[in-house]
Amino acid sequence: MPPQHVACFPDCHTSALPVILFPFWSKFLPADIQTGRILAYWAAHLCDRQERVRLEASYAKLFCSQVGMRVVNQAMQIFGGYGFITEFPVERLYRDMKSIEFGAGTTQIQKLIIVRELIKGAGAGEGNPQRAT
Ligand SMILES: Cc1cc2nc3c(=O)[nH]c(=O)nc-3n(C[C@H](O)[C@H](O)[C@H](O)COP(=O)(O)OP(=O)(O)OC[C@H]3O[C@@H](n4cnc5c(N)ncnc54)[C@H](O)[C@@H]3O)c2cc1C
Repeated sequence: MPPQHVACFPDCHTSALPVILFPFWSKFLPADIQTGRILAYWAAHLCDRQERVRLEASYAKLFCSQVGMRVVNQAMQIFGGYGFITEFPVERLYRDMKSIEFGAGTTQIQKLIIVRELIKGAGAGEGNPQRAT
């Protein structure tokens, strides 16, 4: 017998949604997701303009991978045991997301890059220390 919140998904009333989504609202992940989008689009925009993008790419990679982990963690929590077993896609999403945290530069390395870039920018003495060339 699936837990009540899973069984209720297909036919639940609108009034039940806030309860189902409470873990999401309590951490207000939508704002984080939107912030991640903005960081990613900003880095992509600079990249399109062929500007140096190391700092902005690391901001986006670090923030989006951490938000993604929080999202799949909450999804797994909502599904309970059903989120953990392989019969449901949530565990796959969790593992996929974890690989984003270390693939193409781990969280720790992104932080190192950011600190180095900020120090480099500050040393350059430019108006905006984050836009070191
Ligand atoms: C499924 C999968 C797919 C992959 N696909 C690709 C791919 O397509 N292309 C690609 O290039 N690579 C790929 N990788 C490799 C991935 O990029 C590396 O696993 C990742 O860069 C981490 O390197 P590592 O495993 O050698 O860990 P290590 O470098 O040994 O790091 C281990 C831990 O120590 C931390 N650490 C290391 N150095 C420091 C430091 N100086 N300061 C603080 N912390 C540090 C790391 O953050 C990490 O948490 C893949 C890996 C996996 C598992």
